[in-house]
Amino acid sequence: MKDIEGLVRPNIARLSPYSTARDEYQGPLGIFLDANESPYETGWNRYPDPHQKVLKARISEIKGVPVDSIFLGNGSDEAIDLVFRVFCVPCKDNVVAISPSYGMYQVAAQTNDIEVRNVPLEADFSLDSAKLLAAADACTKAIFLCSPNNPSGNAFPVEQILDIVERFDGLVVLDEAYADFSSIPSLAKEACTRGNLIVLQTLSKARGMAALRLGMAFSTPRIIELMSMVKYPYNINQAAQSLVLKQLEESVETQVEEIKAERALAYDRLAAYPFISKVFPSEANFLLVRTADADALYDHLIADGIIVRNRNRIAGCEGCLRITIGTPEENRKLYKSLETYEEGNIR
Ligand SMILES: *Cc1c(COP(=O)(O)O)cnc(C)c1O
Repeated sequence: MKDIEGLVRPNIARLSPYSTARDEYQGPLGIFLDANESPYETGWNRYPDPHQKVLKARISEIKGVPVDSIFLGNGSDEAIDLVFRVFCVPCKDNVVAISPSYGMYQVAAQTNDIEVRNVPLEADFSLDSAKLLAAADACTKAIFLCSPNNPSGNAFPVEQILDIVERFDGLVVLDEAYADFSSIPSLAKEACTRGNLIVLQTLSKARGMAALRLGMAFSTPRIIELMSMVKYPYNINQAAQSLVLKQLEESVETQVEEIKAERALAYDRLAAYPFISKVFPSEANFLLVRTADADALYDHLIADGIIVRNRNRIAGCEGCLRITIGTPEENRKLYKSLETYEEGNIR
């Protein structure tokens, strides 16, 4: 077992967390004169459950993960930020991340004054474990991995990730925001027992709840306890808790299958355009494409009312646009616009 206590910031190890009125008395009925709320019913006048018990119970059923291995955050971005706040001493500790990858690791690190050591992926976006581990030193608290990776779309083999988890003495944070679209199995269950693995998932992508802001972290009960201690007590508001619970009853299986089918189609369609030199294989709901003049193609699509993500200025993504898979109708419109694009001949 890895020494998690040795990774925790000393000030956090000493922290006695804020105890909410709802922590001290948990009966369902009574006259609540403990939290200075309005006594008049508006539907929203009471503070929400700081432990999100009902929602966690449902997520536990869906994911097959014990309740005490689940952290819920205001998007996975909150969980990312908490990894820094719980484990990384500002101006001293560092984290290792792959590059290119999701921009929030860098932003969260910077706001917490933590160095990020970026390890470039190979030209095909595969990961060299030796290079990754070599970037770590005694002050490296975490390695951030994203699989399927944003913006490249590829997923790393499970054996490779578990090998890194085993060999590294700090935390491995594995961002699985796109797991629902991937043929590579999730490591969420594995994270509950490994000791140094935190798996992040989100309801923002396949589950269609980006506006409700709900991210999930799966790990050991101790790591979940540490993150919960540091979060804002009422981090998931009542509207989000109720609406997510309701929306979770809707299946997204058919939609995910449709997106995967459209992804396969888009892969072939996009690869056939002479101005697209490469379409990177994807396990996510987007495709990264390389073209001679990404800015020109981006502007062309904008002129047709189609907004994609320009990754041209991201290291390792020179000449690249990231295109989300839309509905079949939206994708047809994308192809139609691409058919009118001619290289070096911008409208
Ligand atoms: C979209 C995305 C997220 C989601 O963040 P939320 O805060 O949950 O909306 C997390 N990680 C990656 C890699 C993403 O692309």
